Amino acid sequence: MGLLEGKRAMVTGGSRGIGLEIALEFAREGADVAIADYAPDEANAKAVEQLAAAGSGGAFALRGDVSDPEFAKEAATRMKDSLGGCDILINNAGVTADGLILRMKPEDFERVVRINLNGAFYMLKEMSVLMVKQRSGRIVNMSSVSGVNGNPGQANYASSKAGLVGLTKSAAKELGSRGITVNAIAPGFINTPMTQQLTEKQIEASLARVPLGRMGEPADIAHLAAFLASDKASYITGQVICVDGGIVM
Ligand code: NAD
Repeated sequence: MGLLEGKRAMVTGGSRGIGLEIALEFAREGADVAIADYAPDEANAKAVEQLAAAGSGGAFALRGDVSDPEFAKEAATRMKDSLGGCDILINNAGVTADGLILRMKPEDFERVVRINLNGAFYMLKEMSVLMVKQRSGRIVNMSSVSGVNGNPGQANYASSKAGLVGLTKSAAKELGSRGITVNAIAPGFINTPMTQQLTEKQIEASLARVPLGRMGEPADIAHLAAFLASDKASYITGQVICVDGGIVM
């Protein structure tokens, strides 16, 4: 029997990268998985095909922007109507718009925070309504080592990811008595379309900070997400777990 047999999961930003790998891992572990992503319809449809092939019977994709509170409401309604509820929320959708503070435009600061942090709050708020009724649930927010350590050129991104740490801990304290756990994963330097945009020089500089000396793979994050989302992690809440080859220690 899979680790997540019979669970109903929503993964934001699930059409590619870390989100897709988490969604596929959940499907392989027996969950019905839905994704919410603003990627083009073809990308979402391809992900749903892969999810169905991995064993997720009720897989579906919702196209939309997590920074729109109405989209979060729509996502919760769809989870209830199509799957009967939501046991697991993975707040994974995220963007970067790097630049030094002196040159960073206010709109680039606000957009990154709105998607990475506000978006996670809207989804958490709507899905936790379903979870409170069930008196059980698992929420995992995708933070970053940038949110824990800070990072030059990422004032917007690091602020949003540090904000997720506060959201995680506050929600863990509010929702614990309802059987809901809330944790954060802080990935380090992971091989995805997001990091494939970096120059060779940037990649070299990032790798120099990794004691294990290599990039992580999306599967490294997905394995922990599956554990945190499972019944085996029922006594872990409010934690920020770095999966980073040793960057933060
Ligand atoms: P990615 O760019 O490959 O994938 C992000 C996904 O989120 C995409 O499918 C994109 O369409 C979706 N998305 C972005 N904004 C959205 C929005 N407003 N509404 C709906 N969907 C949206 O990135 P990734 O590397 O897989 O990263 C996934 C998460 O992990 C992000 O939150 C990122 O900040 C975090 N993270 C990544 C790394 C890394 O090294 N790759 C490190 C630390 C944290």
